[in-house]
Amino acid sequence: MLEFVNFIKGTPFIKIISAIIAALMSLNLSFNSMVNTDEALDPGDYDNVILMIGDGMGFYHIDWMEQEYGIEEAYMFSMTDYHGESKTRSSNNIVTDSAAGATALSCAVRTNNGAIGVFPQDQYAVAYVPQNLSELAHSYGMMTGIVTSDNNHGATPGGFSAHIFDRDEGEEITRQQIEESDLDLIWSATSGLVNDEYANEYGWTLIDTTAEFEAVQPGTRSFGQFAGNVWAPDTGADSPSLSTLTTKAIDMLDDDEDGFFLMVEGAHIDKHSHSNEEANMKIAAKEFDLAVKAAIEYAKADGNTLVVITADHETGAISYKNGEYKFNSGGHSGANVPLLVYGSDNFIEEGEAINNKEIARRLAMAMGAAPTEFPAAIAVE
Ligand SMILES: [Zn+2]
Repeated sequence: MLEFVNFIKGTPFIKIISAIIAALMSLNLSFNSMVNTDEALDPGDYDNVILMIGDGMGFYHIDWMEQEYGIEEAYMFSMTDYHGESKTRSSNNIVTDSAAGATALSCAVRTNNGAIGVFPQDQYAVAYVPQNLSELAHSYGMMTGIVTSDNNHGATPGGFSAHIFDRDEGEEITRQQIEESDLDLIWSATSGLVNDEYANEYGWTLIDTTAEFEAVQPGTRSFGQFAGNVWAPDTGADSPSLSTLTTKAIDMLDDDEDGFFLMVEGAHIDKHSHSNEEANMKIAAKEFDLAVKAAIEYAKADGNTLVVITADHETGAISYKNGEYKFNSGGHSGANVPLLVYGSDNFIEEGEAINNKEIARRLAMAMGAAPTEFPAAIAVE
C-alpha cells in the first residue's frame, strides 16, 4: 500500500488515470470489436494487401487533376470495382490531422490529433499501444513495406511503423523505425537522420541514389532516403518517383510465400493543398494515380492481391462551381474522402461510407485476422 501511495505521489495525475484506463483496455477492445462486427462485410483472405493513401486527397482533388490533364477518369476510379467513402474524424476533433488519420487507417483506433499509434485513453503509452497493420502482417510471416513521398518520419509512414504521443518527435519515430520495427522496406524522401553506419548497425542497407535503388535486390532490407521530389514524375534530382518506387517495392516484397503488406503514401497532395499550389497539387495527384495503376496492374496479374485506395482527410476545402474548382482554405476539412477497392466484392458495398478505423479492421481481416482480433492492444514492456 505504501508503494502504491508513493507511486501516486510521484506520478502526474494524467499518467495515473491513463494507467487505470489502459488496464481496462483489452476488455473494452473486445467489446468494441463485437459491437462492430455486424457492420463489417467479410473481405475474404488475400496473399497480399496494398493500402494506398493519398494524403489530403478529396474527391475534387482528383476531379480537378482530371480536368487539368484532359483525363476522362483517373486510374484509381476506372481500375477499381467499388467506390465508397471514408469518414475521417479523429477521437478529439471533427477534422483530423494526418497523425490521427494514419492511426485510424493502421490500427483501427481513433486517437487524438497529433498522436501516432497510441490509444487516446493512454496517449503516453504507459500500459498499451494498438497493434498496427505492419505489425499484424509481420506476425503472419508476411513481408512488410512503406513507400512515401514524405520523409520517413512523416505522420502517415509513422502510423505504420511507430507508436508515439507527438508526431513532431521525428528523431524518435526514426529511431523506432530503424531500431525496433520489423519492416522489410522503408523508402521515402530523405529526413537527413539516417546514415550508412546507423542503418547497417540494425540490419538495414541505406539506398539514396537512383543507381543504388536500381541495384537493390529482393532479400535486402532497405531504407531509402532520396533527395529529389519523389512526388513528381521529374524528381529534379538523383531520385526515383513515387510510381517507380511502388513498382519496385512490390517486386522486392512479393517473393515470400506468406505474402506481403505494403502501404504507399502520396504525401504532397496534402502539402501542395496547404499552400494552395494547384499546379503542384495536380502533379502530385497524377503521380499518385500512376502509383495506384502500378499496384492494380500487379494485383490483376497476381489474382490474389487486395488493393484499397483512400485518404486520411481532405485538405484545402476545394469547391466546384460553374466549371471551376478552387481552394477555400489552407487547412484540412472534415469532408468524406474516396474509398476505392480492387480485388474484393466484399470489402465495401458500392457507395458505402464507413468510418476510417473500419478500413483498417477490414484490412486486418483480409490478412487473416478474425473479426474480434483487431484492433488489438500490445502491452508496453
Ligand atoms: Zn495536412
